Amino acid sequence: MTQLRLNIVLTSIFVVIIAMVIALRLSQLTLMREIMIIVNLGIMAYLIYDLLLIKALTMHTVMLRNPYTQFPTKYELFRDMTKVSLEHKTVYAIQVQNYDEIIEACGMSFVNVIDHNIKQRLLALAKSDHIYEIRDHTYLIVNNSDVSEQAILDVFESPMQGHDENQTYPLHPKVVIVKDMAKSVSNIRNLLGFIDVALADNMNYHHPVVMLDEAFITKINTENYYKAHLHTAIQKKQIKTYFQPKLSLKEKTIVGAEALSRWVENDRTVSPAHYIYLAEATGLIVDIDLISFKDTCDLLERLKQQETLTDQFKISTNFSPITLKNINASQLETILDQHNIDPRHISIEITERVAMRYTELKDILRDIKALGIQIEMDDFSAGHASLSLLPVLGVDTVKIDHSVLPRQPFDHDDIAIYKGLVALLDSLDIVIVAEGVETTEEYLMIHDLPIDLIQGYYISHPGPLDEFVKMMASLEEFASEDDKDLNPET
Ligand code: C2E
Ligand code: CA
Ligand code: CA
Repeated sequence: MTQLRLNIVLTSIFVVIIAMVIALRLSQLTLMREIMIIVNLGIMAYLIYDLLLIKALTMHTVMLRNPYTQFPTKYELFRDMTKVSLEHKTVYAIQVQNYDEIIEACGMSFVNVIDHNIKQRLLALAKSDHIYEIRDHTYLIVNNSDVSEQAILDVFESPMQGHDENQTYPLHPKVVIVKDMAKSVSNIRNLLGFIDVALADNMNYHHPVVMLDEAFITKINTENYYKAHLHTAIQKKQIKTYFQPKLSLKEKTIVGAEALSRWVENDRTVSPAHYIYLAEATGLIVDIDLISFKDTCDLLERLKQQETLTDQFKISTNFSPITLKNINASQLETILDQHNIDPRHISIEITERVAMRYTELKDILRDIKALGIQIEMDDFSAGHASLSLLPVLGVDTVKIDHSVLPRQPFDHDDIAIYKGLVALLDSLDIVIVAEGVETTEEYLMIHDLPIDLIQGYYISHPGPLDEFVKMMASLEEFASEDDKDLNPET
């Protein structure tokens, strides 16, 4: 407050001086140069003082500790740790994940109670000047003594008491234990960045402890690399399409394929699992899905040229709900026209995520169907299956998810569930595809069921476009050899 008052006084003096200078200038009096210099120096001194004051006030705000825990802040951590090596220290972060829920249930007046409670628990692990409150209800402990994962969890084991004696609230901590790699992270700010990512990581949300080790850092760095380079990869045409054949169970021949995206960068091929979700988050998925669609038309054109494109042959290509939201049917029609491809050779694969956004996507689905392109429901599983949705979405084909395919050693219940699902789908007028068939045993297990097509490593892994074209040519040769054997005169 004193600083503020002083500031007001000085500002007033400053205003008076400026007013004097203007008045003197206006009155056309000639002043001695010395007076002007003194006035100017005064103004400069004031400005410097003001800058220092602003800096001090900012620092003061930044250094403010939580009044209920009084733990040092993130800025004190930076100050304390900038020149300190973490090499021989135990470093871990704890975040109380359900803090906001408790406050929501008990009201803001409960903040001091919960903060005090958390403080007491943390003090069982470390001294107060080793516990930094790096964000709201998130603490970083830098200690000299080792601590076990269990010891940290034990501290949060018992629920806390509410206002009402009968009410208790469990605390759900998320713990990030920094392993030896902490030594390799260049500074504390970078380390906090990694800790933030680890705290937000929900991959293993049943287990509240994440090890921030070399593997985790590599994962984050790789993800950052993909994030930064995906756009360029699209421009450099590094996003390619592989094709995996689909076999007709009745005709024992390849009657189609699925287009699957691959990022081919120098010698390595990146799986779509690593970039499709990033592409969805950035909107780049629209470009990727259209690349797969164009490549699908390319392949069909090549098959047509080598006369291996049968009437029934169909390629399916995956469309994200984001793509469906951002394209119109005429874009697809243009691509089809450019390649002179009949749309009945193409289908798009959608997932239940499309069904969840049905209202906003129904028009585009209708327009795509009107072009003559068919719709396949991908990743259909016993758990989420909603049969009534299939006709609503205009689905022609259902792909049963590989997660429900019975695997060895075969379990009686798994087989019963799979057979039941196939029987249900068979009762509808729908093409059924079994996905993820890997072994002869799995193939034999399902080959008598009313399934139309099978797809999986048992038939073939996905491969590049040229390989697929060659495979179709060799199948044709093989078939004509067979015909010759059967009809020796021809
Ligand atoms: P999906 O659509 O379910 O594709 C099937 C995935 O199973 C493919 O993985 C395929 O390589 C793999 N697979 C094939 N046969 C077998 C098998 O016998 N066993 C097992 N375990 N897996 C098999 P992939 O190519 O890594 O693609 C992963 C996912 O990425 C796809 O799952 C799809 O959801 C997405 N994706 C791929 N390409 C595109 C695309 O162009 N656009 C969009 N939106 N998503 C795509
Ligand atoms: Ca698919
Ligand atoms: Ca699938």
